[in-house]
Amino acid sequence: EAAREGLRWKCFDPASLEDAEWTMSLLSRLDYALETGQLWVAYQPKLDCVTGVTVGAEALVRWTHPEKGNIFPDQFIGAAERSGRIAELTRFVLEDAVSTASDINSSGRRFSIAVNLSATLLVGDAIVVMVRETIRRLRFPPELLILEITETSTLRSGTEAEDILRELSQIGVQLSIDDYGTGFSTLEYLKRVPASEIKIDRTFISMLHRSQSDRIMVNSTIQLAHSLSRKVVAEGVENAEILDELIWMGCDMVQGYHTARPMPKWALRGFLETSGTE
Ligand code: C2E
Ligand code: CA
Ligand code: CA
Ligand code: CA
Repeated sequence: EAAREGLRWKCFDPASLEDAEWTMSLLSRLDYALETGQLWVAYQPKLDCVTGVTVGAEALVRWTHPEKGNIFPDQFIGAAERSGRIAELTRFVLEDAVSTASDINSSGRRFSIAVNLSATLLVGDAIVVMVRETIRRLRFPPELLILEITETSTLRSGTEAEDILRELSQIGVQLSIDDYGTGFSTLEYLKRVPASEIKIDRTFISMLHRSQSDRIMVNSTIQLAHSLSRKVVAEGVENAEILDELIWMGCDMVQGYHTARPMPKWALRGFLETSGTE
């Protein structure tokens, strides 16, 4: 399965996604994919920088199409958002993620699980109901569920989205600002959103060992986040040099190919057995 992640170039050509016809057929296939189990969830371990312990994982949706092969989320999340199918897709991922973490925690662990939430879901009360209902039904400790939200202009202050984020945080789940540094009005957003964590975007991390300006930006972002009592996760950590830099800078957690690629849940269990435990 790890090899699959390395074979992205073999996937269906995203350029043809510009094609409206493909988008339409993709959407009807997406419904079918949900029904027939072509959609599944990969989990990428997230490690504590100080202890090296795997503290949680991020759920990343995967689509294994019988003819087209693996279709990666960047190729269908946008279309799912525009067509309204994202709610159903998110329900599927959330369910799989929370039950996977529940199983892991049944042996006394405190493993957290992160699920990506599209900003388009931050209208109405459906998402709040969905999250509350899922954690209640599966008896999952809310503080172990992390919802990752990418900063976008829809999250301007005084919007409904802002109220929904507050409601979600009142349920007791954690919020995480995804792709930090690439979006809209970063500093203002950090101050306002009740997030316990930020994830520094991969574009600032991947060249950390070579770029002095990236080092300066990442280091000061970590200091800033810490002074606001936010935890910092670095995504896209691809080698030991980058990991060492991040540890030295006081980053809290890391995710990336260096430690583990996204994997199916059965492989995650194996990973947890062989990697450091508490
Ligand atoms: P993201 O949330 O920023 O997720 C991180 C992406 O970086 C994932 O791509 C992951 O496989 C990849 N990655 C992890 N470590 C490394 C590394 O060391 N190097 C490199 N080059 N890449 C790494 P993936 O799985 O293809 O997902 C792409 C995006 O699709 C995600 O970006 C997220 O925005 C979206 N996505 C994935 N699953 C879901 C979902 O269930 N719901 C929603 N709304 N969006 C999702
Ligand atoms: Ca994410
Ligand atoms: Ca990201
Ligand atoms: Ca993203």
